[in-house]
Amino acid sequence: MYKKIAKEIKKYNTIIIARHIGPDPDALGSSIGLKELIVNNFPKKKVYVVGSPAARFRYLGNIDKQIDIDTKKALLIVTDTPDIKRIDGAIPNNFAKVIKIDHHPFVEKYADIELIDDKASSASQLIIEFAKKNHYKLNKTIASKLYLGVVADTNRFLYEYTTWKTLNLVSWLIKKTDLDFTNLYENLYNRSLKEIIFSGYISLNMKVTESGLAYIKLTDDIIKEYEVDASTAGNLIENFNNIDQIKVVAFCSQDKDYIKCSIRSRGPIINEIASRYNGGGHIYASGARPKNFEETDNMLNELDKICEKYK
Ligand code: AMP
Repeated sequence: MYKKIAKEIKKYNTIIIARHIGPDPDALGSSIGLKELIVNNFPKKKVYVVGSPAARFRYLGNIDKQIDIDTKKALLIVTDTPDIKRIDGAIPNNFAKVIKIDHHPFVEKYADIELIDDKASSASQLIIEFAKKNHYKLNKTIASKLYLGVVADTNRFLYEYTTWKTLNLVSWLIKKTDLDFTNLYENLYNRSLKEIIFSGYISLNMKVTESGLAYIKLTDDIIKEYEVDASTAGNLIENFNNIDQIKVVAFCSQDKDYIKCSIRSRGPIINEIASRYNGGGHIYASGARPKNFEETDNMLNELDKICEKYK
């Protein structure tokens, strides 16, 4: 499969790379890292990364603007995205050929070639494996993006699906490029004081049910009062995913027309419930977008029930 993808890349002069909406460091690291990898090996190809920029993760590289190409002659590669509706900035049907490289559980087929490994820690890990298998030339900049993608999705090699293969590939990447990886963490883990104070608000105000569901519903007013945004709680959720009494954590923030929820679990499978509330994701790390707090309550009830069952 990795060789087949390399063959297609060789064929096309124009390549667009997309990833999911609301990108995280793995979505950005895998897509921008792949772009730079292709350019590094085929300097004559025109390669663009599309999607909305994410100011918070600017250190992972830039998104291309105003691309004027004939998509019917171009190759589209989508990383870290299991379904069409979550692709940011590209419509698969408009392209000559489409490739998916993803580590989410399968949702739907939208590409001609689908490389899916839902046991891989991250999409960035798949790109490292792709580079290694095809003997692509790497450099420190490419390596740093792919490394941060893996580190972010595994929460520093903590989560399940961090395997010998993850460590093997990352170790290979570091050796190959002489990557100064310890100096990369600052961007990923530095927090503003405002976020830490907001985290304090969450700790003091989240509800914990008897079955082990921790949740908080954050209104616009609270978000404004703490001078944060609708994504902040989700960015802090990993800090709440290793607490004794808690099996599932759900942070739900009002975000214009819907409620943006991040959900994490240390046992119960949550992505099936998330998918019923305009969401989805991995079995232990999901997101959902209920329409309002009433729908959010229904989702929280379902999450509470699976915690009870899990006990
Ligand atoms: P987050 O809590 O936003 O970091 O998302 C955790 C995981 O769930 C990631 O793999 C996301 O791609 C996925 N995810 C988040 N929101 C949604 C959504 N609305 N629909 C489908 N998957 C989602």
